[in-house]
Amino acid sequence: LARAIDQDELALHYQPVVDLHTGAVAGFEALSRWHHPQLGLLGADAFVPVAESYGLSRPLTDWVLRRACTQLASWQADVLVTPEFRVAVNISVDEMDGDGIVGHVARAVETAGVDPRGLVVEIAETRRVDGLADAIRTIDGLHELGVGVAVDNFGSPDAAFPLLCTLPVDELKLDRHLVSETTHPAGRALVGTLIRFGRELGTRVVAEGVETSDQAALLRSMGCAEGQGFLWAPALPVAEAERHLSAVIHAASPCRGVV
Ligand code: C2E
Ligand code: CA
Ligand code: CA
Repeated sequence: LARAIDQDELALHYQPVVDLHTGAVAGFEALSRWHHPQLGLLGADAFVPVAESYGLSRPLTDWVLRRACTQLASWQADVLVTPEFRVAVNISVDEMDGDGIVGHVARAVETAGVDPRGLVVEIAETRRVDGLADAIRTIDGLHELGVGVAVDNFGSPDAAFPLLCTLPVDELKLDRHLVSETTHPAGRALVGTLIRFGRELGTRVVAEGVETSDQAALLRSMGCAEGQGFLWAPALPVAEAERHLSAVIHAASPCRGVV
């Protein structure tokens, strides 16, 4: 994996995040893939946990930051996206060490010449209750750079709820397991409550793992701002992501509301 990072065998695929009210693509989440010479295309679950347990989180994140910032800078320069259009990257919890990660993000932003307003760093909820001070320092540092912060997998069974969500973040990403529970009254009540919680804090709420139009309609009716999931598109290679972007822009231009 260390060699693969050096030799550029990794790629970022981009999954659209859709405005539930207008149908516009509000941003992409960048998800790592590995073009393995023997095993073919590997998804993130096949190698990100390995990176984390072998001390390779930092080189992986550095590569992801460089690649995502360069890509977003080029979309911004080509005016393919507005300055508000977001690209989100994932970092591992073990990187929430305050100044370190902030410095790495700052360097990636500066080197790529990207408008930092478009960059979002996603931090996953975990059971770890230590390191909260580090998390606050990291969030403050990223905000000083003009970079947004999202809490990933909000409400997941693995989360130390309510921990990270009480911090001053810009976005809460509702865990996809919660979204799949909206077929039951209790699941719907919980999702509705979490959406209201986010709205009351003025935090953007994004639902993950949206697979059906019924789920999208329900989430929209509950006040959820944005959604992401196979209903719209999986994570796409760059060329397809760009095609998706222009297709949605063209479909949405005469009248809005194409969900
Ligand atoms: P995540 O951050 O929660 O990313 C969402 C995952 O859900 C992605 O899997 C995505 O392909 C998948 N997904 C999206 N829409 C749907 C849907 O409608 N239904 C279902 N069932 N799944 C959906 P992926 O790409 O395999 O990534 C898995 C996890 O690996 C990510 O979960 C994230 O925690 C981690 N990961 C991915 N890329 C990176 C990275 O560059 N760095 C780090 N540190 N972690 C990464
Ligand atoms: Ca994520
Ligand atoms: Ca997630």
